[in-house]
Amino acid sequence: MLGSLLLAVSRSPLARRTVSGLRATRKVVDRFVAGESTADAVAAVRRLTGSGLTVTIDHLGEEVRDRGAAVEAAKAYVTLLDALRPLGLGDRAEVSVKLSAVGLTLDGDMALGGMALDHVGQICLAARDCGATVTLDMEDHTTVDSTLEILRALREDFPETGVAIQAYLLRSEADCRDLAGSRVRLVKGAYREPASVAYQNKAEVDRAYVRCLRVLMAGSGYPMVATHDDRLIAIAELLADRYGHGRDRYEYQMLYGIRTDRQRELAAAGHRVRVYVPFGDDWYGYFMRRLAERPANVAFFLRALKG
Ligand code: FAD
Repeated sequence: MLGSLLLAVSRSPLARRTVSGLRATRKVVDRFVAGESTADAVAAVRRLTGSGLTVTIDHLGEEVRDRGAAVEAAKAYVTLLDALRPLGLGDRAEVSVKLSAVGLTLDGDMALGGMALDHVGQICLAARDCGATVTLDMEDHTTVDSTLEILRALREDFPETGVAIQAYLLRSEADCRDLAGSRVRLVKGAYREPASVAYQNKAEVDRAYVRCLRVLMAGSGYPMVATHDDRLIAIAELLADRYGHGRDRYEYQMLYGIRTDRQRELAAAGHRVRVYVPFGDDWYGYFMRRLAERPANVAFFLRALKG
């Protein structure tokens, strides 16, 4: 309830200005965001990979308003990948891209062949130069068809490209079937969606997650189990055993700053764990979704405001 309210309010420009302008906000943002610059991101990557984790890096930004911003976003990824190349991390460091940050929603550009495809193609090329891969984040439900269409086109040249699928969408089990031979990051879903397209309560979303997971684990692809939920992590391990997915054929993923002890514990137990590392100055949308996921984060934010 509080989460839905926060996601709704977060769309207002006034809320954006107010939250972004508060000095105390920065302290809370720092818990979820690795920093603003490429150097900050590289430092976080060094730290995390040095402690046995792997990473996927997100240059923050979404729904850019003009072509120039989309070009800059693509450049930021290429600059980051150039900075990572000398570290020789290969696929221990990959990147995550929101297509709306590289032009998906500009000029009715939701169709194939547009700016977003060109931009993400450039990012895939730079990633390949580092031995890294790209995963497409999934945004609100109006972008799913175009994201999957761009994914199909990208895979002709970059078959290793992954995509996030949101278990809360009613369509996702079928999408998992279509994608079961490829790299798929399964998430619960972080946007506010209507009942016509998405399950609304937690138990239904969790059950849908397990159904999707079963489809992915039964397939020949590489499931990326992106959740902080211990029950789902345990179920993933059972399903991996049942379908003969060795530990090199799936991985767990969690967000930067969330359940860091659990990330290390899973890695120490021999699992591949990838941390989603966001960086950049356009942190607002990402930050509000993290607050919306957990009332305790709102309390933490309010305490920072007081103190
Ligand atoms: P929940 O039931 O929400 O949480 C389980 C437990 O995890 C909680 O009890 C709590 O202990 C902990 N936890 C969860 N969230 C938080 C938080 N914010 N702060 C502190 N503790 C928390 N969503 C999309 O819609 N599109 C994407 O492309 C996308 N990519 C993602 C990539 C990764 C690697 C991850 C981990 C998540 C991504 N998400 C994405 C977000 C996802 O959809 C969920 O909103 C988010 O992961 C919370 O769900 P959960 O599975 O952790 O389960």
